[in-house]
Amino acid sequence: MNTKAETFEFQVEARQLLQLMIHSIYSNKDVFLRELISNASDALDKLRLESLRGTDLHADTSDLHIELEVDQERRTLTVRDNGIGMSHDDVVQLIGTIAKSGTAEFLRELKDAKEESKDAAASQDLIGQFGVGFYSGFMVADQVTLVTRHATESQGTRWESTGEGTYTIEAVDEAPQGTSVTLRLKPEDTEDHLYDYASSRKLKEIVKRYSDFITWPIRMTAEST
Ligand code: ADP
Ligand code: MG
Repeated sequence: MNTKAETFEFQVEARQLLQLMIHSIYSNKDVFLRELISNASDALDKLRLESLRGTDLHADTSDLHIELEVDQERRTLTVRDNGIGMSHDDVVQLIGTIAKSGTAEFLRELKDAKEESKDAAASQDLIGQFGVGFYSGFMVADQVTLVTRHATESQGTRWESTGEGTYTIEAVDEAPQGTSVTLRLKPEDTEDHLYDYASSRKLKEIVKRYSDFITWPIRMTAEST
């Protein structure tokens, strides 16, 4: 059964972080894709490890990969993996709350970097370093939807937010193995070819620049533009 979506409020720190992402303090927003691909790659590593350990998985491990899918009509970009996935509790803890101690430190370091007027690259490095990767999707999206199912579970979880104060979490019956993160691309970006993340040429370029070392196959199902 699909339960009703529950609404939660972001914590103060999460809200601060999201404001930074939404207002894109970074000159280079392209790194959001690196962050999402890196999470997908980690999830595939974890699934492979579990399957080598002989864990009883409800998962097909024969075609592990990452997929980038563009829906031109809806102006969405989806980053999908068939990796380990997340349980409901994982989503609450890892995605929902950013209860991570690193976040506060990230915000402090960022403030310091700005005060010392370090270059944009220095602040960008902080994104990966402090594990705020998932939230970087809000640099390019006005809504982020995550659907996930952990490899040992039959029920999936859906997380959604516009990044403004609240997010929803609900159980879903029909979730494919792994995780998908769907970004509803900001209209102002897609109008500018420099930031058109619905363009497969742009996506290929970013993947080549930032994710070339990823060992899992990265497939693109974007229509060519
Ligand atoms: P980090 O990758 O540094 O831990 P992120 O914000 O990028 O920080 O992700 C937070 C956590 O959410 C990850 O550690 C992981 O547990 C979970 N997560 C994010 N994306 C995925 C994914 N595609 N599959 C499984 N778990 C994920
Ligand atoms: Mg990450």
